[in-house]
Amino acid sequence: MNTVRTLDALRDRLSPSDRMPLVFLGHGTPMNAIEDNDYSRAWSELGRSLPRPAAILVVSAHWMSRGTTLVEVSAMPRTIHDFHGFPEALYARQYPAHGAPGLAREVATLLASHHGEEDDSWGLDHGAWTVLGFMYPQADVPVFQVSIDMSRGLDFQLEIGRTLSELRDRGVLILGSGNVVHNLRAVNWGADSKPHDFALEFDRRFADRLEHRDFAALADREGLGSLLHMAHPTVDHYLPALTIAGASDKGDDLAFMTDTIDLAAVSMRSFVFHAR
Ligand code: ZN
Repeated sequence: MNTVRTLDALRDRLSPSDRMPLVFLGHGTPMNAIEDNDYSRAWSELGRSLPRPAAILVVSAHWMSRGTTLVEVSAMPRTIHDFHGFPEALYARQYPAHGAPGLAREVATLLASHHGEEDDSWGLDHGAWTVLGFMYPQADVPVFQVSIDMSRGLDFQLEIGRTLSELRDRGVLILGSGNVVHNLRAVNWGADSKPHDFALEFDRRFADRLEHRDFAALADREGLGSLLHMAHPTVDHYLPALTIAGASDKGDDLAFMTDTIDLAAVSMRSFVFHAR
């Protein structure tokens, strides 16, 4: 197992491969969509470093379903401004990428055993366009979303990842967007917001289990216990990280990107699995 810790090191290691890397990004506050900061710069750099995808499949924390895994099949997914009380500039943002209806329909079929269904009503939520706006600012790569089924256990999302993993061989970039720690009740908007102990502990434990490829531990509600509840009062921002873990295989190396705790309770830890 190899782990690299900086984006520079990652860029050196990413070589053209027939098998696309997998990416999980902590998206944090919607303000990141219009700010020039460490996160947005890392997303820009990542977009330049990755092999160019044929299409992007996004699993975002902000598209939750119950009892189905929905797949967006629109030809032109709309930009959804799914937040309240932010500056006008954020509501003016559009991400006019095309969808990938043919591929998306195939994915709905691929996920039939997981109650996969086509949907043309969602679009692109801010979990997707916040990061894509920096990774692919020209919006010139087709993109579509897949929802997270909130009615299932954590291991269900690992299975979804495993099922989707074959798309990596077809030039599809599978992108998870959430946060490894996400507790909005414990957020501190102060400038000197020191991370909460639970946030540091969950983030470290997650990184350690991920490095050891112990995904079962990451999906073990009982084993994670009250720490999981502190880090994720609801698991929507956690599930996309499990999708990405589930889509990885033994031949992948793991690279961490930004790994800071923002606002005391939001981990911005991001990671990439890539074929050796
Ligand atoms: Zn979010």
